[in-house]
Amino acid sequence: MYEGAVQDLIDELGRLPGVGPKSAQRIAFHILVADEEDVTRLAQAIDKVKATVRFCITCGNVAEAEQCRICSDPRRDPTAVCVVEEPKDVVAIERTREFRGRYHVLGGAISPIEGIGPDDLRITELLSRLADGSVGEVIIATDPNLEGRPRPPTSAASSRQWGCGSAVSRRDSPSEATSNTPTRSPSVALSKEGECCMPEVRRSVPEELDPDLQTLGEETALEALAFLTVVREVAKGAVPDSAVPVITLALSQILVTGSRLGAINDVVPAQRFEPDLGSDEDVEELRLSLAELFTGIDDYAEVIDPLTTTELSRSQLSGDIAEICAALMHGLRHHADGNMTEALWWWQFSYLATWGARAASALRAMQSILGHTRLDADEETVAEAQFDALHR
Ligand SMILES: [Zn+2]
Repeated sequence: MYEGAVQDLIDELGRLPGVGPKSAQRIAFHILVADEEDVTRLAQAIDKVKATVRFCITCGNVAEAEQCRICSDPRRDPTAVCVVEEPKDVVAIERTREFRGRYHVLGGAISPIEGIGPDDLRITELLSRLADGSVGEVIIATDPNLEGRPRPPTSAASSRQWGCGSAVSRRDSPSEATSNTPTRSPSVALSKEGECCMPEVRRSVPEELDPDLQTLGEETALEALAFLTVVREVAKGAVPDSAVPVITLALSQILVTGSRLGAINDVVPAQRFEPDLGSDEDVEELRLSLAELFTGIDDYAEVIDPLTTTELSRSQLSGDIAEICAALMHGLRHHADGNMTEALWWWQFSYLATWGARAASALRAMQSILGHTRLDADEETVAEAQFDALHR
């Protein structure tokens, strides 16, 4: 298709997970026109990660020393171990800030199709960690499906768990029928009197949903649809001059919806596993359209967690909005399947774990843009306004 080096780059990028031929082409041409400095930094980062990053001898997570940051942190509870498939699952669970124990990274999932059996994973290492009896609780947070389907894009998907026998929610549940079922949020991992058991599959209990929850679910679905419609229209360029106020309004409204989910008890579905929905709709195109629309105002500074740190990071409005859309769409798919409890569970958990914070910080940035646009004026305009005011 293209000549030599460009095509080589496209081919290499296309081999990365989640990068299709179109994206590979887009990234390659981005690199082609990017500043020399930026490209060098990218190349160096790739080199450095291969040269300096290794795997923790205890848990198998990525580490820059013999032990990873979590294993070497004395404040982390050594008696609780959460078993995950990949280092990225550790990141996803860490982002929820609810688990204070340690991890064990298996390095993949058992997949008969790909010929990956128990011997290929770090299971022997796990058993030897458990051998001395100092670990009181093991939480299995691997993908419940035998061959691991693609995960939804938000962190909550990776923190679903089979849980231990004792890992039962102590919070109030919406109905009797579901009160014995573990919640699927990592908060239950904090249960202490844990005797450990291996994963077992429970039969689902027929669900009866409280009428108030049913109503809340329907209203949430409508709000989610409204948000998606507004974002899609804005991304298409329907209101180029009022994109900022329109998105500000949409974010404010979806945050009201989220706050309602945050005000009710944990929604606990009867089934232990989230039903498989297959892969979610890709929001990458949407994100790119928004990024283009917000050129120049997309990047902003964000406080990572205002309660625990003053540390700042960078965020993009386009990324935030696309992530919120992805989370809302995932819940809408359960809703479309007639599975209201699953939809509510997902919307609530993902609001608490991911999209609530994204929406709140994006709203703060949007408000700031709106303020600057409306209030910042050049001196001449200000002088004219003063003159008018004085001589009217
Ligand atoms: Zn470690």
